[in-house]
Order: sequence, then structure tokens, then C-alpha cells
Amino acid sequence: TPRVFSGIQPSGGLTLGNYLGAITKFVSTQEAGTHETIYCMVDLHAITVPQEPDALRHNTRELCAGFLAAGIDPERSILINQSQVPEHAQLGWVFNCVARMGWMGRMTQWKDKAGKNAEAASLGLFAYPALMAADILIYHATHVPVGEDQKQHIELTRDIAAKFNHDYGVDFFPLTEPVIEGAATRVMSLRDGTKKMSKSDPVDGSRINLTDDADTIAKKFRKAKTDPDPLPGSVAGLEGRPDARNLVNIYAALEGRTVDAVLAEHEGAMFGHFKQALADLAVEKLSPISSEMARLMDDPAEIDRILARGAERAREITVPILERTYEIVGMVR
Ligand code: ATP
Ligand code: MG
Repeated sequence: TPRVFSGIQPSGGLTLGNYLGAITKFVSTQEAGTHETIYCMVDLHAITVPQEPDALRHNTRELCAGFLAAGIDPERSILINQSQVPEHAQLGWVFNCVARMGWMGRMTQWKDKAGKNAEAASLGLFAYPALMAADILIYHATHVPVGEDQKQHIELTRDIAAKFNHDYGVDFFPLTEPVIEGAATRVMSLRDGTKKMSKSDPVDGSRINLTDDADTIAKKFRKAKTDPDPLPGSVAGLEGRPDARNLVNIYAALEGRTVDAVLAEHEGAMFGHFKQALADLAVEKLSPISSEMARLMDDPAEIDRILARGAERAREITVPILERTYEIVGMVR
């Protein structure tokens, strides 16, 4: 069976963007049953920027709890923590030697995250997309459900696979396709509709965390940036209004309806009123997940057992693929 792989960094708590852009698709892919599904907490990626060790441990377990609470079944999917499957990093090294400096330098995430002072960024942050290619290709995964922001990294994954195959004269790594689908492939910051919502944004008010309580969610939406105009009757009326557009998009995605259907119902409403409806909807959809996450976090040993078991299952796939890669490259075994 063809494989799907995707990952999330334990670089903070899960956001509404991660949930709508990634996790809901992980669950629907698992449910479809057409692919073997492998989902990963990518802790090695998280340390490309500073992480406090205790917070990283906590965030990794909480991320696992988030996957489980949202409906990932550790029997039907393989659920792992990246550093517990060492072949990711081992193939990552080989790909560091395949990828070109110029390719990496063109990555917009690198430019955004390194900021103006690239000299002070970690080497790992620069090499991040080569490790991400390894995460995917160590399973020969053909499809990767991701948010819009990861499109460029998946294209780079294809470039790395193609260059490896070409350089060694093999047809070994598949050319992976991104799966960027649904109503919320790019949820924006609540404080700036032109910036992606991110779990590592220093401003907590910019995002909804899956662990936020009802009052916090209501307050964050109330304070979200908007404009003084009412909701238009169709999506064309949101042109040039990124903050308004974002809130309507979130509403539509949470309800599983189109933006036009939401606008048809709320045309003429002021945002003060709409934000309250949005908060109610978000609480209704997210509170079952956050209470289940809290329940799971009461037993971290069980989470650790699930991850250990996932790593064992993953390595049945990754060890032979790494061995074959080393053989192709010319490593004495
Ligand atoms: P960080 O700020 O540390 O990069 P993040 O919130 O961007 O965290 P990642 O772990 O980098 O989260 O990404 C995990 C998955 O969530 C990826 O598939 C990514 O495309 C998706 N994703 C992240 N943010 C959003 C968003 N705002 N809208 C839709 N999808 C998102
Ligand atoms: Mg990110």
C-alpha cells in the first residue's frame, strides 16, 4: 500500500492552524484507509530554534495527546516521535550531501525564521528541509498532507529525490506530492491577516491554542483584528480585507461549509456579533479535543508506551530503506 507521512513540531502547543490545516486531514486520510499513514512529532526539527528541555518533553507528549484526541488511532496509523526513529536523521545526513546550498537559501521559511541576522541562525535551521525530505522519503511516502506554507519544502523534497536518483543512476526514491486541500490551508494570525498563525509566534493572542479554555478563546476572537465594515454577501466582498477574510475562513472550516455559504447566512452582520458566533463555534468543536488531551496527559507513561511501540513499527520500514540507501551510496556495511 502507498504511504502517507506528515509531521508537526513540538515547538509549542497545537494551534487552530495546525488543527485545520494538518490534523483534520491526517484523520480523514487514516479514515479513508487507502494509504498506510505515518504521523510524527518532529522533535529534531523543533531544536533548530532554542527549546527549553522540559518544555520540549512536555510539548512532545502533549502533541501526541493532541493527535490521539483528534482521532489518530495508534493501531491504524503509525504514531512516532522523530528522534526515536534514528533513520530519519541518518538519511537526513545523506540528503545534506545531495541538497545544494543555493536550494536551501531560497526557502522562504528559512528567510522568515532566520530573519535579518542569518549569521546567528543555527546550521540546523538552514538544513531543516533536507531532514524533512528524509522524514518523508525514509518511508518512500508518496503523499504528504500539509498546510500551504509547506508547499515549497515538498517541492524541494522532490528535487532531492530526483537528484539522488539521477546521481546514483537508480529509481529508488519516489517523487512526493503535497496534499494541500480543504477550507483552511493557511489560517492567518488573529493580529495580522497577512501573517500565518504559528505556534511559535511570541504573541499568544495571535493564535488559538487547542488547550485554550472557552473564555480565552472568546477573548482572543474579540480582540482579533478586523475592519469596521459588515460581512459582505459573497467572497468577492472580502477582497483586500485579509483580517475579515481570515475570520470567515476559520468559521467556514470549523463548520465544514464554504465561505459563500457562511456569508449568505451572515450577510450584513457586524464583526462584533460574528466574532461571538465564531467563538461559540470554536469552543463547541475544540473543547471535546482539549478535554481529551488533558485526560491523556494525566498518564504520560501511556503516551511514552504508544510512542515506543510506534517507533518499533516504523523501524520495520525505515531500517531496510536506510540500508539500501547506504548500499547505493557505497557505504561498507
Ligand atoms: P512553528 O511556528 O514552530 O513553525 P507551526 O504552527 O508553523 O509551528 P509546524 O509544526 O511548523 O507548525 O507545522 C505543522 C503542520 O501544520 C504543517 O503541515 C503546516 O503546514 C501546518 N500549519 C502550520 N500553521 C498553519 C496555518 N496557520 N494554517 C494551516 N496550516 C498550518
Ligand atoms: Mg511552521
